[in-house]
Amino acid sequence: MARLNFCMNCSKKLKGRIDKKFCNDFCKNTFNNNAKAPVNNLMRNINNALARNRKILENCFSDNKSEITLSKEILFQLGYNFNYYTGTLLTENNHVYYYCYNIGFREGPQGEIYLSKMLFTNFDSDINLKPTG
Ligand SMILES: [Zn+2]
Repeated sequence: MARLNFCMNCSKKLKGRIDKKFCNDFCKNTFNNNAKAPVNNLMRNINNALARNRKILENCFSDNKSEITLSKEILFQLGYNFNYYTGTLLTENNHVYYYCYNIGFREGPQGEIYLSKMLFTNFDSDINLKPTG
């Protein structure tokens, strides 16, 4: 193993063991946290976008309906980000639903959006995830 002469975090001259990369735990932790920062930021931004999307979809429902129709324009206006979803579902009618956690949607031929909400009463069952159309 080649010896590092300088701390990978602060560039101070290293003393002691030949396999040292950092002068102390603070430098080691700082270096590792900085190295992870981009992916942590990416994940936080995507998680936030997903949470925001789910809230937008949730707010479209009133009463205790599990399926509604609205225009895609409304979702755009509410700030829905179509790039992020948690899963897809292919129905028996060959429609692809894009799910954001418990709420999925598909786009109809005229740009209408069919929303389908999974009911939490049977959260363990996949049956309620299936939209009717
Ligand atoms: Zn250091």
